[in-house]
Amino acid sequence: MPYKDLEANRDKIRAAGNKFARSKKGRKHRKKWRDSHPENIRANTARYRAKMAPEERRANAKRYRDKPATKIKRRLQEAQKRALEEGGFFDPRLIERSLANIPTHCACCGHVFDYNVSGRGCRNYGPSIDRVVNEKWYTLENSRWICGFCNARKSDSTLAIVEMIATYIRQNS
Ligand SMILES: [Zn+2]
Repeated sequence: MPYKDLEANRDKIRAAGNKFARSKKGRKHRKKWRDSHPENIRANTARYRAKMAPEERRANAKRYRDKPATKIKRRLQEAQKRALEEGGFFDPRLIERSLANIPTHCACCGHVFDYNVSGRGCRNYGPSIDRVVNEKWYTLENSRWICGFCNARKSDSTLAIVEMIATYIRQNS
């Protein structure tokens, strides 16, 4: 115990506790606690919700859903699920990297991302995670954030197919 007099060092102890809570180790520790105490989490959630009017709660939920970080996380969770279901691969570092550096522009057309696209954000200029080479999975090298338009255009095309289309347009225009 580094502090002998608890009362006199209350602020120091609190600051050290807060520092630990924000650290990587502390976050891991808290997650472990949350995962092993689901009944506490449910009770906390219920208490939090009981204090709020339903409209307020819905507005809060919407504000959370509309946050770029939430949208990015959702897209990645969907990709992770696809990879799992289809026996593919998903590098979890994609999550921390994307959240630490929220993508702002389409890696394909360069258009700025629209985070206000409603529903699934991968439409129009909403961000979507793309496997550059479709035969490969969600590795760091093979994953890029592109807009919904580019993703729809690219679909599951290979480079050979895109070049074939380019040749076709060039020859006939
Ligand atoms: Zn684009």
